[in-house]
Amino acid sequence: MDGFSAKVLAWYRGHGRHDLPWQGADPYARWLAEVMLQQTTVTAVVPYYRRFMSAFPSVQALARASLDDVLALWSGLGYYARARNLHAAARLLAMRDAGDFPRTADEWAALPGIGASTAAAIVAFAFGVPAAILDANVRRVLSRYHGVRGPDAQAERLLWAHARAHTPMHDVAAYTQAIMDLGALLCRKAPECARCPLAADCAFDGKDAPRQRPPKPERAVYMAVIAEPGRGVLLVRRPPRGVWGGLWSLPESTALAALPAVVEGLGFEGALGPSYPAVRHVFTHFRLSITPVRVACLSRGRGLAEGCDMMWYKGGTPGPGMPAPVRRLVNQFLEAS
Ligand code: SF4
Repeated sequence: MDGFSAKVLAWYRGHGRHDLPWQGADPYARWLAEVMLQQTTVTAVVPYYRRFMSAFPSVQALARASLDDVLALWSGLGYYARARNLHAAARLLAMRDAGDFPRTADEWAALPGIGASTAAAIVAFAFGVPAAILDANVRRVLSRYHGVRGPDAQAERLLWAHARAHTPMHDVAAYTQAIMDLGALLCRKAPECARCPLAADCAFDGKDAPRQRPPKPERAVYMAVIAEPGRGVLLVRRPPRGVWGGLWSLPESTALAALPAVVEGLGFEGALGPSYPAVRHVFTHFRLSITPVRVACLSRGRGLAEGCDMMWYKGGTPGPGMPAPVRRLVNQFLEAS
């Protein structure tokens, strides 16, 4: 163990997080938590993790569940490809004997939705394998401490080399949590260097490398709010891939004038009513503006079979898996009607 790791571990014993609900050596719990924690904070993940573990306490239970049930419990956590990959990976893992989980990072990284850092974290926590992680928090600590400027391929190689060099051969589970916690609790965007055990040797000069982020393009959609007394609001299932893949949503079009044709395609004849104020949602690569439009149904002709690609939703929890902004819109409408 080098001086860096020893300092981080000593700090962790007194100041790190020791009561996270997934802490322990259960590979299933660790896998679930690491996937949920990708691009998401601990605070946001904890209630989702508890609900998930309660509904699907084992990899076999998760594999037996329908994707709809998994997406419903994931609803609101975002980055839904994670839930689809988790479900697909569970079905692969469930083919093994109960309790027989992969023990190497390479085997985990071969499963859907698991990158090198997530795979390393799982085997470090569950089996004590000395595998190096490089998630966003650790990347920030190492790049500041070692003065690595990026982002580019050379910086990435250097950071992985530093991550491997600092990963100890023993106490690896504690060290992995420790370096994650140091990044999350001290080495944040505005770092608390005065409290950091690494301050004496840290190369950080107060300036992070500029992040080359192009402005996010704007997209706009119009969503049809179709309601029938006693039945609720009409939802349609989105295609399995792409943004919000497999989730339930409102019928939509990128052009207001095309919305009646979308409604007609579902077997209804509708007339456009008033529009409501647009709501905005920010994705990793673009910003979305959603304008809800009331559509009055004049008649219902031959439509798609209810239950496969469309359904009526009257509210209540957990309900089907819906994107968070759509769920808010639908619930607001149901409460107001
Ligand atoms: S001294 Fe400051 S910048 Fe360096 S690792 Fe610690 S918190 Fe981060």
